Formats: sequence, structure tokens, C-alpha cells
Amino acid sequence: MKPNISIVGGGPAGLMAAYILSKNKFCVTVFDRKPTVGRKFLLAGRGGLNITHSEVKNTFIKKYGKASEKFKKLLDSFSQEDLRDFCKKLGEDTFIGSSGRIFPKSFKSSPLLRSWLSKLKEQKVIFNTNHDWVGWKKDHLVFINNKNEVLVKPDLTLFALGGLSWPKLGSDGSWIKIFEKENIKISKPQPSNCGFYVNWTDIFREKFRGQPLKTIKLKHKNLEFKGEFLITTEGIEGGLVYTLSSFIRENINENGYAEVIIDLKPDLRIDQIEKRLSSEYPKLSLTNLLRKTLKLSNVAIGLIVELRNKKQIKTFEIKKLAYIIKNYKLILEKPFAIERCISTAGGINFESIDENFMIKNNRKTYVIGEMLDWEAPTGGYLLQACISNGAFVAKQIIREYS
Ligand SMILES: Cc1cc2nc3c(=O)[nH]c(=O)nc-3n(C[C@H](O)[C@H](O)[C@H](O)COP(=O)(O)OP(=O)(O)OC[C@H]3O[C@@H](n4cnc5c(N)ncnc54)[C@H](O)[C@@H]3O)c2cc1C
Repeated sequence: MKPNISIVGGGPAGLMAAYILSKNKFCVTVFDRKPTVGRKFLLAGRGGLNITHSEVKNTFIKKYGKASEKFKKLLDSFSQEDLRDFCKKLGEDTFIGSSGRIFPKSFKSSPLLRSWLSKLKEQKVIFNTNHDWVGWKKDHLVFINNKNEVLVKPDLTLFALGGLSWPKLGSDGSWIKIFEKENIKISKPQPSNCGFYVNWTDIFREKFRGQPLKTIKLKHKNLEFKGEFLITTEGIEGGLVYTLSSFIRENINENGYAEVIIDLKPDLRIDQIEKRLSSEYPKLSLTNLLRKTLKLSNVAIGLIVELRNKKQIKTFEIKKLAYIIKNYKLILEKPFAIERCISTAGGINFESIDENFMIKNNRKTYVIGEMLDWEAPTGGYLLQACISNGAFVAKQIIREYS
């Protein structure tokens, strides 16, 4: 007989497992503590839902770092193409952007989620929202619903409880203590795809917070990427910073701070910069010189002036100035709090689960999605991993019980 399955957590990982299981006539109930499911998925669509990436598999898989090998079979089970087909089936065609990232044509997640949920209802999935999972009592799952305790005894449970970012949307890591009590090993949750604190002067902060620093190169150790990031009240954040964030975070964990180098004029060599500066030096003020000869933005000029504000430099002669423009050193103090990050590193350790994502000391329980110990940069890698993970486990269950 087919097992009765409880999926706890209605994010993309849980909803994909629900889709495949219910399509194969398994009886599925989705529980979520929030009044509606998929809230983080909806937020992800606010700035353009980057659902996956078009990279070839071997390149794609490397983005999962030390979990790459484990995730290879997830992509084999449900590839980027499968995800695009799934979106198409739900009425949302996708396209490949200039950077290779893949988006639904509408850019949004709401139409996709709407038709995903209506498909699930059509396939007879039951939704028990406002059900907060708080632990186990013997072989029952315990939920709190409207202050009442609800006990549920499924044949199989899939937990897809997410990471710790944006806790208002439902996933806040409250599951960690419960799992630890069961001796399930958890790697410490840490911010991923996050911004970092910088000790700006008040003058710089007031003038430039909220402004982007564009067309620059950001370097950390032997890694460097071109792009832009945002100056915030407390530091820096944005796509380019997220790309390096796992390496920067580890460096801070080791040394207490991390150093990044900004190339403020990546398209010019240092000798070309010197030549341009010389043409007007010392006729113009520092600000006008940088603006006129190099067309540096106000933020970039602000960063250079910041060195004077901080009394790190008194005079700017040409060679020194050109060097700073190509090698602007910024000290990052610590990552922003996990609550405001895009995703979470750390989570349930792979040692605690078997090759089918089943908890080793609990033969009826699977764990999937962001609550596991892996991380990846932004670029569609997060959603693809969560969704492929849900699909993989669902297919394993179907194989075992059909
Ligand atoms: C601002 C932002 C933008 C993003 N943009 C992108 C993007 O463009 N591309 C991309 O690939 N990724 C993006 N992500 C990341 C992506 O949204 C997440 O990685 C993904 O949603 C994780 O899926 P999940 O199913 O594992 O967990 P979640 O989506 O977090 O879902 C977990 C669910 O579990 C429920 N839950 C938690 N605890 C309990 C409990 N105790 N009882 C009952 N229910 C519970 C929660 O309410 C929630 O519904 C973005 C994230 C953020 C914050």
C-alpha cells in the first residue's frame, strides 16, 4: 500500500516533492506554520525570479562547493531543462538572460506559484496551513494550530523547513533545537549571499548610502569579479558582494576581518590612469581631477576622499593616486545578520542522512532543501537545488513504494 506522506514546509523544496508524489497518486498533506505557503519564493520573485542557470552541468554543479558531488545526482534526477519544462507546464515560459541566468518571462513568481498550487489542489494535495511543527511525541508529529496541539501520524515525513533568512516569511531555524535533541548533527548556520559591515565615516555614510558603485572589479585573495554593489548605512551589499560572500565570511571567521580590493577603473591600466591624471594635475582639485580625467562616479570619488577623511592619506601625488584607484583596500568587519541575507550556509549535516536524504536514525523521515548543510551563490543555484532535491526524494519514495 502507498504510504501516507506529510510534507512539513511549503517552500519550493516541499512543493516540488508534493507535486511529484501527488501526480503519482500518493496521499500528501502539506503543513506550514504560515497562513499561506511559498512566501520566500514570492519574495525571491520581487526583483526578478532567477529560477536556474543555463551553465553546462559540470560548471553548474561546482557552484555547490563541498556538496557538489552529493548534488550531482539531484541534477541528474531533475535538471535545469526539467525545471524549465515544469515552468512551461505551469504556463510560465522561461528565457535565458544575457548573463546565462534563467527567468520566467513574467520575471515574477506569483503566476508560477498560483498555478503550481492549483495543480497540487487538482492532484488532491491537502494543505494544513497555520500548523507550526514543534517536535515529536513518540511516532507522532506535533503541531500547534490556533493554540491547540495537533498530533499527526504519517507513514513518511519530509521536512523542508528552509534556512534562517527572512524569518518573518516562515523559516527561522526553530527546527534546529528539536533536531539536535534527536542527536541529528547540525553544522552551525551562517549568513550566505550576504552584505558586510564597513566602518564608514559619518560624512561618507550620509552622502552615499543607497548608492551603487558601478563598473568596478572586486577582488578577494585570488578571486575577482566585475560588476556593481551597493553602499549601505552599515557597509556593502549586492550581487557582486554575494558572489564572494562565502569566501569573505570564512576569512572573517579565521582572522576576525577580511580585506577586499576594489579596482575602481578596471578598463584602464595603471600607466594609462597616471597619464590621464598628469594631463590636468595639479591644476584641478582632487574631486574635479578624478571626475574630468577618469570620469569616476561620485561614489568612487567619495571612497578616495574617504581616505583623507579617515586620515589614512594626506596628499595624493599621481603615482599613489593611480595605485589607489586600481587597488582600493576595504576592510570588511563581519557579515550582516543572517535574518537579512539571501540564504543560509550550514544546517543538517550530510553525515546524519543517507544517500536518499533519509535521516539515519529515523527511517521514516527525509530532509530536503535549504535546511541542509550546503550553500551556493545567487544565480538560480539555490532554487534549482531545493526543487531538484524535492524531486529526487519524491522519486526515491515512488521507486520504493510503487
Ligand atoms: C530576498 C531573496 C531573494 C531570493 N532570490 C532568489 C533567486 O532569485 N533565485 C534563487 O535561486 N534563490 C533565491 N532566493 C533563495 C530561495 O528563495 C531559497 O533558497 C528557497 O526558497 C529555499 O527553499 P526551501 O523550500 O528549502 O525553504 P523555504 O522557501 O524557506 O520554505 C520553508 C517553509 O517551511 C515553513 N516552516 C519553517 N519552519 C516551520 C515549522 N516549524 N512548522 C511548519 N512550517 C515551517 C516556512 O513557513 C516555509 O514556508 C532568494 C531568497 C531571498 C530571501
